[in-house]
Amino acid sequence: MLNQDFITLTIGKQKNIALIAHDSKKAELIAWCAEHAEILKQHFLCGTGTTARMITEKTGLPVKGYNSGPLGGDQQIGAKIVEGIVDFVIFFSDPLAAQPHDPDVKALLRIAQVYDIPIANNRATADFMITSEFMAREYDHKIINFNKKIRDRADTL
Ligand code: PGA
Repeated sequence: MLNQDFITLTIGKQKNIALIAHDSKKAELIAWCAEHAEILKQHFLCGTGTTARMITEKTGLPVKGYNSGPLGGDQQIGAKIVEGIVDFVIFFSDPLAAQPHDPDVKALLRIAQVYDIPIANNRATADFMITSEFMAREYDHKIINFNKKIRDRADTL
């Protein structure tokens, strides 16, 4: 196990879904959550502060709120991906407006890529993901073996 470059982790049947929307996309994400509420109800939901609060207010879905995005919420969700606590992300970002926390947004996209986390940044991708057969069952995926990576780096540096 320690010698393998990749290890297999399992995204459970019940996903831990993070929901994030930039301001101009919040209405679209709320509408999407309402449309897919029956499926979303079967999973654990969290999100950046304002997005989480608005989804709960408008749809009744329970969404655990982290800090607001510009105040570190994206970084908190990125950290949860690293810890294996968040394993699915719906992130409606605004491609037409500069964000004060652009480095945090990039960091979240990058860490989701590192940990092979399904992540949707627009509605079409979110629709494809939420209707996937994998929503109702476990999904095995390969992640970089961080224990081996640390050992190898420590040996060579
Ligand atoms: P918010 O953060 O949900 O607190 O608005 C989202 C973001 O801008 O990343």
